[in-house]
Amino acid sequence: MTAAYEYETHEYDVVVVGAGGSGLRATLGMAEQGLRTACVTKVFPTRSHTVAAQGGIAASLSNMGPDNWQWHMYDTVKGSDWLGDTDAMEYLAREAPKAVYELEHYGVPFSRTEEGKIYQRPFGGHTTEFGEGPPVQRTCAAADRTGHAILHTLYGQSVKEKAEFYIEYFAIDLIMSEDGQCQGVLCWKLDDGTFHLFSAKMVVLATGGYGRAFFSATSAHTCTGDGGGMVARAGLALQDMEFVQFHPTGIYGSGCLITEGARGEGGYLTNSEGERFMERYAPTYKDLAPRDYVSRSMTMEIREGRGVGEHKDHIYLNLSHLPAEALALRLPGISESAKIFAGVDVTKEPIPVLPTVHYNMGGIPTNYHGEVLNPTKDNPTAVVPGLMAVGEAGCASVHGANRLGSNSLIDLVVFGRAAAIRAGEILKPGAPNPVLNMASVEKAFDRFDNIRHAKGNIPTAELRLEMQRTMQSDAAVFRTDKTLKEGVEKMTAIAAKLDDLHVTDRTLVWNSDLMETLELTNLMPNALATIHGAEARKESRGAHAHEDYPERDDKNWRIHTISRVDGNKVDLSYRPIIEAPLTTEDEGGISLEKIAPKARTF
Ligand SMILES: Cc1cc2nc3c(=O)[nH]c(=O)nc-3n(C[C@H](O)[C@H](O)[C@H](O)COP(=O)(O)OP(=O)(O)OC[C@H]3O[C@@H](n4cnc5c(N)ncnc54)[C@H](O)[C@@H]3O)c2cc1C
Repeated sequence: MTAAYEYETHEYDVVVVGAGGSGLRATLGMAEQGLRTACVTKVFPTRSHTVAAQGGIAASLSNMGPDNWQWHMYDTVKGSDWLGDTDAMEYLAREAPKAVYELEHYGVPFSRTEEGKIYQRPFGGHTTEFGEGPPVQRTCAAADRTGHAILHTLYGQSVKEKAEFYIEYFAIDLIMSEDGQCQGVLCWKLDDGTFHLFSAKMVVLATGGYGRAFFSATSAHTCTGDGGGMVARAGLALQDMEFVQFHPTGIYGSGCLITEGARGEGGYLTNSEGERFMERYAPTYKDLAPRDYVSRSMTMEIREGRGVGEHKDHIYLNLSHLPAEALALRLPGISESAKIFAGVDVTKEPIPVLPTVHYNMGGIPTNYHGEVLNPTKDNPTAVVPGLMAVGEAGCASVHGANRLGSNSLIDLVVFGRAAAIRAGEILKPGAPNPVLNMASVEKAFDRFDNIRHAKGNIPTAELRLEMQRTMQSDAAVFRTDKTLKEGVEKMTAIAAKLDDLHVTDRTLVWNSDLMETLELTNLMPNALATIHGAEARKESRGAHAHEDYPERDDKNWRIHTISRVDGNKVDLSYRPIIEAPLTTEDEGGISLEKIAPKARTF
């Protein structure tokens, strides 16, 4: 039976769901293209998780020494452990400088060099000479508040371009036609309990990651994978979800992030013996090896009894040898975080840190124009009409099995911009929108109504905690057949309990109980796809470190995992990665020999 809810209909050329860096860059670009654009967001735009990005944004500007996009591309390919799509990685590295200069011209207050150029710092995995030369200073920074600066600038520019914002509107579900075209999205306005049906020629999902599927994460409590949940319910695919990045330096206890920029500025890790142990694991790049590498090394040290603290269960990050003025100038934000969350004065003491869930490499599969893919056996790059995904919600795939630090912020703006360029090519502003499929609208309301009146036995917070603890222990830095098999069994049982949830508050105005329940129904398919994909992948690659299969297996596993989640069941299939770059060496592109798979050492 159809639940009777009244709603208001809104018509736009484009509706962007999400106002983080990717959503705002897409919104601004769409509006600049003359498309009537709405941006729907569950939090105020400048409260999106992007605001917390500290370290910076990668682009080969060569402001601090020699650099070029081919080197950046090589590092990204290697960082991905050869699982990224080569066309998308080329697009990212080539377009990065343009996208950063655009940000500069929009007004982002970057830190400056003596000559007034954009300041750039070293970051893990970013090198020169195709990994043969010293680390490069490629990460453009606004002190340690880069995301904050970008977000505020893009929001201001979007308002100037007359994009229309729907703030504190929660997107419930996509509206899909019978033949699989996305036609819009149904939203719930959190502060007055009204419903809003958005009709659009193009819906752009920019809903961010799903870090909150885990117990300890650096991401905001709002990072609940809502886009992935909506896509799964529409019968569409998620890709490479088993690849979850642990950031080496979450503050022990709170999980609050200390940027990699801290090591970029000269910080280093030590164990209980005061040893700078990264020198043993990564002789060349040491503390600036990529994140998966450093996280595993830290975990090994702790396992072997060289952790610090009473329980020998964490590691120290040392900054006190750096000049106090440099800390105040370049890392003011993390000096404050260390004081508040660890009670540490960074000029005098080390910060206690631990690898913490930080980023989701997987997401909604797209091509490098941001168009969502619905891969089939016959057509692994089939496009879903009317649907795009950008930012951490999407998977282009530029990060493959492991993302390099500062490559996410650049992904947000490069692909937010690319999506707008594509939409400008394929959409006719003002042309009539497709007639909405009312069956799909009713289905979305019915689901909402069922959850609102859920009368089971388990409170949302309890089931969420069960999921988070299971994911934290069974989809961890190191994985084994045993932990993954148990993880699949436990998560299948936990997901089944969604049918037994109890929602206490049935009202519609500022009902956080209901909103968190909707979010849990989104986290769950993301978590299920993660643990199933990990269990199936019998190799080690990037962030997926499998102790029973310690080697990378390019012959069998250099493929993308495609998962379709239905209730608590997950169907896995695979699609080939895209090996061909956009341009050949003769056209000025990278040589294929340079990016051929090889062992990943640092
Ligand atoms: C602490 C921290 C520091 C980081 N530092 C760096 C860094 O220095 N450099 C770097 O490259 N990367 C960094 N990253 C990673 C990077 O910041 C994120 O990957 C990126 O900001 C994600 O941006 P986004 O646009 O995809 O989504 P977000 O910024 O997470 O925004 C998501 C948006 O979607 C909206 N939304 C979600 N669900 C719904 C719904 N159901 N209805 C309506 N709206 C919805 C939210 O309101 C929000 O506006 C960091 C990440 C963290 C957590």
